[in-house]
Amino acid sequence: MKAALRTVDDHGREYQALMFVCPGCARGGDVGLHMLPVGGDVPEGRARWDFDGDLETPTLSPSILTRYTMHGTDGPREWVCHSFLRAGVFEFLTDSTHPFAGQQVPLPDLPDWAVREG
Ligand SMILES: [Zn+2]
Repeated sequence: MKAALRTVDDHGREYQALMFVCPGCARGGDVGLHMLPVGGDVPEGRARWDFDGDLETPTLSPSILTRYTMHGTDGPREWVCHSFLRAGVFEFLTDSTHPFAGQQVPLPDLPDWAVREG
């Protein structure tokens, strides 16, 4: 299974989130699991993606952007993962700061623990 829908209860507002793994965001013990709102009563101010409903070869729009500041021994550094997910394939944009930048990578299977959870 490549992706799964989960119902998220956000203080009484229920929305659907698509759960999947981004290989660009996987680092160390973190598999890079994402939960992106795709339907239902998504809280105002939160991003929402259009999802084509295909859990094996999903397409999401607009692009997926993960950005934060890493604090390493050499000081703060901006970390960026920016991709389009189309028909089950990530297209990592060149502003990504990880080695998949500019590459296409198939969506990996969800880890077993993530599938069981729901
Ligand atoms: Zn990512």
